[in-house]
Amino acid sequence: MISYNKKTIEDIDVAGKKCLVRCDFNVPLKDGVISDDKRIRESLPTLKYLLNGGAAVIACSHLGRPKGEFKPEFSLMPVAERLAKLLDIEVVFAKDVIGEDAKSKASMLKPRQLMLLENVRYHKQEEKNDPEFCKELASMADIYVNDAFGTAHRAHASTTGVAKILPAVCGFLIKKEIEIMGKALQEPKRPFVAILGGAKVSDKIGVISNLLDKVDTLIIGGGMAYTFMKSRGFKIGNSLCEEDKLGLAKELSAKADTNNVKMLIPVDNHVGDAYKPDCFHEIIYSDDIPDNFMGLDIGPQTIEVYCKAIRQAGTVVWNGPMGVCEWEAFENGTLAVANAVVESGAISIIGGGDSAAAIEKLGFADKMTHISTGGGASLEFLEGLELPGIAALIDK
Ligand code: AMP
Repeated sequence: MISYNKKTIEDIDVAGKKCLVRCDFNVPLKDGVISDDKRIRESLPTLKYLLNGGAAVIACSHLGRPKGEFKPEFSLMPVAERLAKLLDIEVVFAKDVIGEDAKSKASMLKPRQLMLLENVRYHKQEEKNDPEFCKELASMADIYVNDAFGTAHRAHASTTGVAKILPAVCGFLIKKEIEIMGKALQEPKRPFVAILGGAKVSDKIGVISNLLDKVDTLIIGGGMAYTFMKSRGFKIGNSLCEEDKLGLAKELSAKADTNNVKMLIPVDNHVGDAYKPDCFHEIIYSDDIPDNFMGLDIGPQTIEVYCKAIRQAGTVVWNGPMGVCEWEAFENGTLAVANAVVESGAISIIGGGDSAAAIEKLGFADKMTHISTGGGASLEFLEGLELPGIAALIDK
């Protein structure tokens, strides 16, 4: 089990220092306009702390996938403008990352001033963690701060490489992620219940396997449940199924038995006659889904069983919806489970990505203890894998 006890910006003296801060400014843009600035707002506590503490801050981030080329639609300029508005200060914007503009502006940056570099992924060397590129980036600063949990599972130049050159600590966002998720995995308040859903078993094998060593109850929903059902000999009709993972699903069920983990799979299902929001739909027991129907949500009896287990939980970790919750007809399972998590009063941790988006859309975001800011990174954390962007930071 990996445990992180890393130095944070509160453990070092930042006054008069230039701090290179890796943020996650990978915000959604529509016609060049930011449609959701949540990620920018989430970065503010770290940026404000550093600026108020007398640091000169050089922020950097990626945005989208420009694939190593300068493409204006992936420019961080709109982020610089939004940062300036939110912080009510001038934000110096560098038109490049390690070029003349960035370097001359960085050298002139004064304490309490904030500068933002252009998209680090304008350089192919970023994702390759190229040593020369790392050196150039690091040359502008005295200290490195990683506050981008969403890319902490990637060993890129701005997430890992620079941390090997400069004294490296984490910001408040990463601190919160490792404190809350780390504690939940290491000393959970019991019963510890994990809820896993979403489309595919294959995406979450590592997580299921790791959590089977830790939880008391494992609840399986969503598309992945049907592979488990088929592996137990149930008729699943046209439901999503990964034929090549049937053996693995059996092994995971056996591991649950060995570890005395209660593994719950649906007893009934809300099935549809097509993968469409307006399909004909009805409730069918799990062992008898007709050939021309597919399971698109958990059924009412399953909701009852799952919610009963969840209401007793001390800690809940949840990743992946219980059904196709984007469609009103199939959102009941996910809604009921979200309600039960809130009613349980348990420490509740929601994986990022689709799960976080579903919880937000359904209006439960402010009722959870923690919604992770990283999809892939939170899955790897729950899988027990080392996140290179965090491992590279200085230990306490
Ligand atoms: P993931 O990214 O693995 O968490 O998967 C989320 C996606 O799984 C959502 O877009 C859901 O629509 C989809 N999903 C959930 N349940 C089902 C199901 N029973 N059949 C097909 N897709 C599903």
